[in-house]
Amino acid sequence: MKGSGFILFVAGFLACVGLIACVSLLSHGSEPQAKASPVKALAEREVYYPGTEDLAADEMRVVACGTGMPNARPKQAAACWLVELGNGDKFLFDIGTGSAERISAMKIPYNYLDKVFIGHLHSDHFGDLDALWVGGVVANRVTPLRVWGPSSLEPKYGTKESLEHMEAMLAWDVDTRMGNTDTRGLFLEVTEFDYTAVNKVIYQENGVTIRTIPAIHIFDGPVSFLLEWNGLKFAYSSDTFPNKWWMEHATDADIAIHECFIAPESLVAKQNFTPEAALNVGTQIHTSPAQFGKVMAQTKPRMAVAYHFFNDFDTAPAVLRDIRKTYDGELALAVDYMVFNVTKDDIKVRMAAIDEDIWPQPSNIPLVPPDPSIRRTALSKMMLEGRIVHRDVLEEVYKDVNEKFGSNEKVP
Ligand SMILES: [Zn+2]
Ligand SMILES: [Zn+2]
Repeated sequence: MKGSGFILFVAGFLACVGLIACVSLLSHGSEPQAKASPVKALAEREVYYPGTEDLAADEMRVVACGTGMPNARPKQAAACWLVELGNGDKFLFDIGTGSAERISAMKIPYNYLDKVFIGHLHSDHFGDLDALWVGGVVANRVTPLRVWGPSSLEPKYGTKESLEHMEAMLAWDVDTRMGNTDTRGLFLEVTEFDYTAVNKVIYQENGVTIRTIPAIHIFDGPVSFLLEWNGLKFAYSSDTFPNKWWMEHATDADIAIHECFIAPESLVAKQNFTPEAALNVGTQIHTSPAQFGKVMAQTKPRMAVAYHFFNDFDTAPAVLRDIRKTYDGELALAVDYMVFNVTKDDIKVRMAAIDEDIWPQPSNIPLVPPDPSIRRTALSKMMLEGRIVHRDVLEEVYKDVNEKFGSNEKVP
């Protein structure tokens, strides 16, 4: 993506088989044409195929793993953004409902997906944390999941208490899994930080600094995040009404992902809200497209990304129209699986092509066999006596697996 006249126009969606969205990105630069050949691969990939591209040492890759709204739909999960850095670090910002599936499609070993930053505790921003935490262990994560999230006016509205209750909710789930596979990753490490802190560092490791600023969204607690690494700046609003902290601290970002709610007229026409609710939600609780344009015109990111609306052929035009009233810079109207490769010289925007038959990647840390001594639950006498053990066929299964994989297990 080069050239000042660049317009990223997300249109003409084709719902291909399942969830694969095909998008036309009119984003051609001035790079020389590769020589055409009937037998050689094309020099330039127009599509991102997860797991097939090295990340350069100075490169940041940002993947939209959820761009939609609180109500579920197949095409767009709720808020989630994956940031991958050339130093090997990866960060998840928000993990809204439905996003764990998108994360899985990136084909990343789960040990590398162990850091989640939650902007606020609406389910469309952390509703799939359980899926990443527990499902991530089943997908071979053996490291604890680290989670950062804000405090609020009362402890019960803060991240710490919220996630303690999530753990309590998942008692049966977690306790029954413990010790039945390699469950070293079945732990949460929660860091709650002060939501009122302005531009304060909450994370600093391996050359990566993450700061928070307050966000304004219905009630105290929400924050926005600023990640800086290697001279690149990523700004992520989570949910916020336009506010002075974003205007001051998110300026000159290389990539600024800011909420841009669906236009109020579409909230009435498509979401079937009353006009009163549409104006309240669409302009007071959230940032409307017209306000998004004002924010970006002043903060001037190299790439402005609008998310948090259902991005369809009949809703995108109103969003674009309102943004373009005040902002004429680089712009992407986000959908799930949009991928941004950011370096100091270039920002390339593509769609990922997704393999729906996803399996977990092998763990980079060798797995250990189940440890029965850490099991937390056992069947009662009644359940034990109800089991029907087909010993003859099980002995064959055990023999086959032992022969094939070198294990030495016996039917209990
Ligand atoms: Zn929210
Ligand atoms: Zn939201």
